[in-house]
Amino acid sequence: MNYRHAFHAGNFADVVKHALFCRLVRYLQRKDGAIRIYDTHAGPGLYDLGGDEAARTLEHESGIAALAAADRAIRENPLLADYWAAIEPDLAARRYPGSPLIARRLLRPQDRLSAYELHPQDGAALRALFAGDTAVKAIALDGWLALGAHVPPKEKRGLVLVDPPYEKLSEVDDIAAALHKAIARWRGGVYAVWYPIKKPAMVERLKEALAAIAPAEIVFAEFCREPLGRDERFVGTGLAVVNPPFVFAEEAEALFALLAPVLERGSKATYSVKECRSRPS
Ligand code: SAM
Repeated sequence: MNYRHAFHAGNFADVVKHALFCRLVRYLQRKDGAIRIYDTHAGPGLYDLGGDEAARTLEHESGIAALAAADRAIRENPLLADYWAAIEPDLAARRYPGSPLIARRLLRPQDRLSAYELHPQDGAALRALFAGDTAVKAIALDGWLALGAHVPPKEKRGLVLVDPPYEKLSEVDDIAAALHKAIARWRGGVYAVWYPIKKPAMVERLKEALAAIAPAEIVFAEFCREPLGRDERFVGTGLAVVNPPFVFAEEAEALFALLAPVLERGSKATYSVKECRSRPS
């Protein structure tokens, strides 16, 4: 396990992913009943933007720092306000919260979070972050195993964030297999799978695999901050949402329009939100 998210925390893809994630959580919270959030690849939960890893890439400069420097009206837009409120407490100390901490800040008293992280150091940091917090289970367990074994939640409603590092070629197969198992056990869950846009063939393979196992509808929301080149550079970020809330596609499109001038690089950002009925095989 070589991947450490500390090198990338707060980059443009985190901003887009976390902002969309907040919209999904808020939608599920429109009903009073409790929800559970599963974060299968959680990371350590909090990142030091002044630390060595962040200093080596400076990726946050064209991500969260660009948003912090943008017009206040953008951050206060209702589509971004919950995300901004969840991350702002850390920015002054040059820190950026990861998905489990953002999720924790959105929980209501009745909601729960299960977060999984396999890297020994990042897993220990995650468990220390949530020590004593009864609303959160931070577990050193393989996220793929957890996805197959820990759903459905007793809360019955909820959301799974699947955010693997894409270090291995087999990861698309891992995602498809784990999701297939989870959906068989919990058909009504909302599943959000993050993916990088850099290798078009891999993106197509992933989307085909997900469309084949989604029980009903799936939305692919993609944001590219620069054009796709031949060099397979990381230009964009995608989120595939199985069982999307009915407002999700519309909100994602509006959110992308809001973020485009802040996050684009060189030329204009491009984005698309595609809704598909599933094609079960
Ligand atoms: N979700 C985090 C966020 O948005 O702040 C970032 C997660 S990062 C992209 C992926 C994480 O998955 C890494 O911290 C890595 O150590 C962890 N990881 C890799 N394989 C895993 C597995 N099989 N189960 C659980 N965690 C894993």
